[in-house]
Amino acid sequence: MPPVPTRDAPAVPGVPWIATWSRERISTNLLESRLPGGLFYFNEGPGDRDKFGALWARQAQRIGHGAAELAGIHPRRQRQAMEQLLCQVCGLGADTSELGVLWMEPVVPGASICPSSTHPPVCVPCAMESRERCPRIRRTGVHIFRVASPMPEGVIGTHYYPGLDGTLVPDGSMEVRYEDSEVKWVLAHQMITALTGITPVDLDEEYARYLATDPEPRVASVRSTASRRCPRQAISDHRTTSPTT
Ligand SMILES: [Zn+2]
Repeated sequence: MPPVPTRDAPAVPGVPWIATWSRERISTNLLESRLPGGLFYFNEGPGDRDKFGALWARQAQRIGHGAAELAGIHPRRQRQAMEQLLCQVCGLGADTSELGVLWMEPVVPGASICPSSTHPPVCVPCAMESRERCPRIRRTGVHIFRVASPMPEGVIGTHYYPGLDGTLVPDGSMEVRYEDSEVKWVLAHQMITALTGITPVDLDEEYARYLATDPEPRVASVRSTASRRCPRQAISDHRTTSPTT
């Protein structure tokens, strides 16, 4: 039986669930290194690494505290959305059908859908609202598609190397696949998912199908927001894996 999707904290209406808040501080205080083993936390726990062994950045989980930072992506929530296929906007389960999980990507003229993404999936109501309200999506259009086999394939994070005095030196952002040995020197901030088995779909038809499946509980929670923000605002500054931004 597949795991039941869970989320650590509910989304605040109007702010994408994976966006950061100003009081969600990131910490590398206990980050250390071993040669040749790579990065580790002095008090590392089982949640600090994903199942492929990548070490993840630690950031406080305080949704709704301080100001929303729409240009920020919360590492834990982005990872959780990718691993459990949660909607990047509301944090509830993304929509799934016999064709796979629902995804949306802004259209870039001349570019096809990228086969990998740091954007988590979406649910139908959030896809509808994003298409209606997001200025960027309204300007560029959006690819709506389902993914039969979304599979984590790597991370984007901060690359470190050990300095001569034993301290860790940050060396900028790096995109790395799990099979690359350098992943042990990257502190992950976002998971990259391979989108295998893409089928373009019509969002209006998806919404009609969704309405026919007793959606009242989700509609009640998602539609409570009067001015939902565009999820692409939170993502576009961080994405490096796709030509679609
Ligand atoms: Zn949603």
